[in-house]
Amino acid sequence: MKNITCKTCHQVVYGRNNQIYCSQKCKNAFHNDNYRKRHRKALNALKQIMANAKKIESLYRRHGSIVLKSKSFVEKGLDPAFTNSNRRDGVFEFDDWLLKEIGEDAYMIIPPITFNENE
Ligand SMILES: [Zn+2]
Repeated sequence: MKNITCKTCHQVVYGRNNQIYCSQKCKNAFHNDNYRKRHRKALNALKQIMANAKKIESLYRRHGSIVLKSKSFVEKGLDPAFTNSNRRDGVFEFDDWLLKEIGEDAYMIIPPITFNENE
């Protein structure tokens, strides 16, 4: 029997000859870490999209359907590249909150259909 060490915690593995993790916990940790590394860019983009949606909702709760230039969103810490944008060439759906382009560099916040102002 050869001496196998766990791919995650590097402890000696006891069990089947082809076993490469000491436990289910280490196996999951290894695969979760690989998943995060493999999808790093997509996961970061998703994080940014969700943070933006939160900021858009907060703006909407304060000001309603105001029209803003992209510069105003950037000043409020929002990256317009990571929002829903209803452009003349189509709709990109990232989240339920939408920035609708209504003129040259002029955007209006459109809340989700299910949005309830009292929640
Ligand atoms: Zn382990």
